[in-house]
Amino acid sequence: MDWMDLNAAQTASAEGDDASEATARLVKGLNRPQQEAVLHGEGALLILAGPGSGKTRVITRRIANLLLTGKARPHEILAITFTNKAAREMRERVEALVPVPGLWISTFHAMGARILRREIEMLGGSWTRDFTIYDTHDRNQLLRRLIAEAGYDAARFRPAMVGAWISSEKNRTRFAVADAGDGGIEAEALEKISKSYDAALAKSNALDFDDLLLKVLELFEAQPGVRDSYASRFRWVLIDEFQDTNTVQYELAKHLSGWHRNLAVCGDPDQSIYAWRGADIRNIVDFEKDYANAKVVLLEQNYRSTRHILEAAQAVISNNRSRKQKRTWSDGAEGEQLCIMECGDEEDEAREIAAQIQAWRTRGGKLSDVAVFYRANFLQRALEAGLRRASLPYRIVAGVEFYERREIRDLLAWLKLAVNPSDDVAFLRVVNTPSRGIGEKSLGEIARWAADRRLPLIQAARSKEALSLVRGKARAGLEAFAAFVARCERLADGPAAAAIDAVLAEIDVNAWLGEMDDESLVDREANLEELRAHAEQWDEGRTSGQQDGAGGDAGARTLRTFLQEIALVSETDGGGEAAERVTLMTLHAAKGLEFGLVLIAGCEEELLPHNRALSESRGDDPDAGLEEERRLFYVGMTRAKERLLLTWARQRMHFGSMSFRQPSRFLEEIPERHVESGGSGKAQEESTDPFVEYEPEEEPLQPGAIVQHEHFGRGTLLRLQGSGVNTRATVRFVTHGERQLLLAYARLTIVGRSS
Ligand code: ATP
Ligand code: MG
Repeated sequence: MDWMDLNAAQTASAEGDDASEATARLVKGLNRPQQEAVLHGEGALLILAGPGSGKTRVITRRIANLLLTGKARPHEILAITFTNKAAREMRERVEALVPVPGLWISTFHAMGARILRREIEMLGGSWTRDFTIYDTHDRNQLLRRLIAEAGYDAARFRPAMVGAWISSEKNRTRFAVADAGDGGIEAEALEKISKSYDAALAKSNALDFDDLLLKVLELFEAQPGVRDSYASRFRWVLIDEFQDTNTVQYELAKHLSGWHRNLAVCGDPDQSIYAWRGADIRNIVDFEKDYANAKVVLLEQNYRSTRHILEAAQAVISNNRSRKQKRTWSDGAEGEQLCIMECGDEEDEAREIAAQIQAWRTRGGKLSDVAVFYRANFLQRALEAGLRRASLPYRIVAGVEFYERREIRDLLAWLKLAVNPSDDVAFLRVVNTPSRGIGEKSLGEIARWAADRRLPLIQAARSKEALSLVRGKARAGLEAFAAFVARCERLADGPAAAAIDAVLAEIDVNAWLGEMDDESLVDREANLEELRAHAEQWDEGRTSGQQDGAGGDAGARTLRTFLQEIALVSETDGGGEAAERVTLMTLHAAKGLEFGLVLIAGCEEELLPHNRALSESRGDDPDAGLEEERRLFYVGMTRAKERLLLTWARQRMHFGSMSFRQPSRFLEEIPERHVESGGSGKAQEESTDPFVEYEPEEEPLQPGAIVQHEHFGRGTLLRLQGSGVNTRATVRFVTHGERQLLLAYARLTIVGRSS
């Protein structure tokens, strides 16, 4: 273990040994270009290299070396990574090398939030340090209301679409959102909605995710003094995954390194997978222009993957036309060939994946060293079910999923109001939850009153004048709600778990959960409990926070800081400590990570590459979407150290209907010599079983039969087409309309005949 050397280095320096010896130990075991990058002194540094070549390791050791040699004091370092998880890992690694707390290692967004928590009042708006962070869901809710209020056609101005447009504007993206605003009236309307959206945010003392970056940029541009104080403080700026920075992030980096130019970035253009969110690969090209004397280091040796995996991935990515050839080699083992598995459907796929993980475990592999990736979230459910059936513990890295849940959003809304009662989105979400008899009309009245005075809604609920506009039950309801929020406000600076208990004690929980009839009560209660447990961990300091450190300015563990922390759980992220569990996550979240065994599910056309990405052409390159999908697949493949399995299913349920699938074109791009022959015939054999079982059914299935389906309920069979396992049944369901199902998998029961 080379970490031992490093520990020795750190002890040595603590004992007063000279710094050069400590450095020597720190770079021991690194290859030449890696050493050069670690040891590079002042001035810009660009590290360009493929996956697994040690970019992140170089950044980490560079930080350690700056500290060990006394070139930097801890507060002079700013390191940026792409996810909170990566930031946490990097902090742990640096701290293992040099035990200094208080390093600013975070994502761009967490950095923005942190700067704004200190400086936002300098912007001159109405924001205070207690601002709320709105996520995409909050944003869309707010937009829905504003679009309706302004009288625009909701079908034409979909909140998500308008939101994406606003986001791309805020990110100063170089390509416009395809279907928004092609000049004229549309653009005018979008501008108008966008203005009222920003005004509503300001009134609610809220910022959206894009603002966390944009407001810092505005602040730096408007207040050079503030910018200079940060630029002189952070004398060393380091950015990992630079290929995925967008224009605003690039500008921020430029401001922060403006006068010292000690900016070190590393990236791999082949792993750029966030163009859809404004990431711009040209930032790497621009870097060499903006920092003309930048030292460029290329790393060519891959330390992560076996040769079969590495070469297979290289072969796939070489199909991208718009890329520069890179040299990558490995002197590691050849390893096992890749396994490509054809499965009957998503259940077979999940079963196969579980079996492969079991086999890995039997061979002595750890579950914490296993990951299952997928392109789209809907694949997750079947995979989870498969792992559960096989009693394999797993965790899902997709924090946002959990926080999207209705009961969680409600609870968070109450908690947010405790910290920031001006948060209008939170107010509207729960003012009538559970029902307090406050109807749309009454809300409309007080909303108008508040809007006329540019006041947040809570002020209306507290104003006698505004309340006089509504009658009876609604008025009593509003008064009760305002009193409730006032009581909650006292919880803001207390422990988070106690705040949750206090809120839940006041709410009629049964009535509240009872209003949500679409799911079982048990699940929702379990989720509430999970959030409470998470809060308790926070209170006790058992989870490390993004905003910790740096002189402990976010130090106190309170409801306030807890909410700040979870607001930063981004779409690319997830929490949870390493445990003996399989990791499930989307390909987009997999950046920078590595696992012994990697399984990529759903390697199918229209899924990977995703059809939405295919239909998107960016700029004048019709292949841009496809090439980004290929990079995504490449990122997934190159996470694997020892074993890589790729599965696809001949058919799959999606949105309640079965569709027939084709293997991904990317699978065909893998040279045969890297693939195990045979694959698994087992899944195919099994998949025909349901049909065989179905055959002996006494009554023949004919059009006109009344059938029962597990999910869709009752319906009438209209047609049968095709033959054998490919027989398709068209059924008109009472509640789900007409569906085409594959008979072999539909498990239809005949319950009668229509006359
Ligand atoms: P990615 O592009 O996927 O983020 P990366 O370039 O950041 O990859 P790292 O994660 O830093 O690569 O390194 C990949 C693996 O190789 C890690 O397990 C790391 O510890 C190991 N590694 C890197 N350099 C060396 C080295 N010189 N000797 C031994 N192992 C190394
Ligand atoms: Mg990395």
